[in-house]
Amino acid sequence: MNAPTTTVLVVEDEESFVEALTAGLGREGFRVQVARDGAQALMLFSAVAPDLVLLDVMLPKVSGIDVCREIRKTSKVPIIMVTAKASEIDTVVGLEVGADDYVAKPYRVRELVARIRAVLRRAHDAEPVGDDVTGEVLTVGDVSLDPERHEVLIRGEDVSLPLKEFELLALLLANAGRVLPRDTLIDRVWGHDYVGDTKTLDVHIKRLRAKVEEDPSSPSRIVTIRGLGYKYERPKAPKPGDDPAG
Ligand code: CA
Repeated sequence: MNAPTTTVLVVEDEESFVEALTAGLGREGFRVQVARDGAQALMLFSAVAPDLVLLDVMLPKVSGIDVCREIRKTSKVPIIMVTAKASEIDTVVGLEVGADDYVAKPYRVRELVARIRAVLRRAHDAEPVGDDVTGEVLTVGDVSLDPERHEVLIRGEDVSLPLKEFELLALLLANAGRVLPRDTLIDRVWGHDYVGDTKTLDVHIKRLRAKVEEDPSSPSRIVTIRGLGYKYERPKAPKPGDDPAG
């Protein structure tokens, strides 16, 4: 393969992880640069301009959270944060540091590589999340939303939505098929200075589901991605060759 080399900056202080990642990611064709503390991470980030940063939260000197915030001041580089355990993800996500994805230790390198590729793909072919909300009518399956006329059509019916629900639905539809982290949704709909209860998001999702879902008790469109956020599912395309008259 002659694909351009993708450089991953691995920020990790535990030697066993460093070794496993260097070997595992190297085998997958990534170039790996390793920083062992937060200060070194920031230095290396400027020096090597990586395509993606894999960032441990618990680091000596400068925490992963602060490294992420610092990088975000100047760069939209994809960042995957690594937490010590799954239960910490919610806390880290809640801090709204601007990471693109989260994984918990322990993880399988194979799973991590899949996440890395997904984040890179998203960063590559997508406009920044939410930037395509203005203008065009958004249609996914039997739901469509017209941002300019502020109209929503669900299964052929005009539905009137309060502003925040409307904005939330627009964001979900514009990014259908992609996971939107909770902090991204809160940031985009309520603003980065939002200090209210994070349950507000769930309440709005619940209200939207009541209108959008055919069976709100078992959502198939606005789905919860545990520990991360929400995703608007694209409808499953009928398989070519399927004969409905069959
Ligand atoms: Ca650590």
